Amino acid sequence: MRELVCIVCPNGCTLSVDEQTLAVTGNKCRKGVDFAVAELTCPTRTICSTVKTVFPEAPVLPVRVSKEIPKDKIFDVMAEINKVILDKRLSRGETVIGNVLGLGADVIATSSVLVKKS
Ligand code: SF4
Repeated sequence: MRELVCIVCPNGCTLSVDEQTLAVTGNKCRKGVDFAVAELTCPTRTICSTVKTVFPEAPVLPVRVSKEIPKDKIFDVMAEINKVILDKRLSRGETVIGNVLGLGADVIATSSVLVKKS
C-alpha cells in the first residue's frame, strides 16, 4: 500500500493506493483515482518558471510547459529553460522552446510584458 497526497485540487486528499491492483481509497472524487494511478504508473508534472531576456525593462519572462511532462524530466527541462536568454519580444502563448527535449511539449510565454504598448 502506498500513501499519496492528491495535488489536483486544494483539498489535498490523502490517498491510499494498492500497488498491485491500483485500487484507490481516500479520494473525494474521481480525479484522485486518476492522479493516483498516473502517479504510480507514469507520473507527470507541469513546470512554471521564467527565462532571462536581454530587455532591461523586463529581465525575465514567465513561461510554462504546454502540457505535463514526465516527472523524471523536470530537471532536464529546467536546464533547457535556464539556458534561454530571450532576444525576441514574444507575446503570451508564443513558443520560447519548441518540443523541448523531444517530449512533445513546448515552453511557452505566459505574459506579454515584452510587447510594447503603442
Ligand atoms: S481526490 Fe478530488 S477532491 Fe481530493 S484532492 Fe484530489 S481532486 Fe481534490
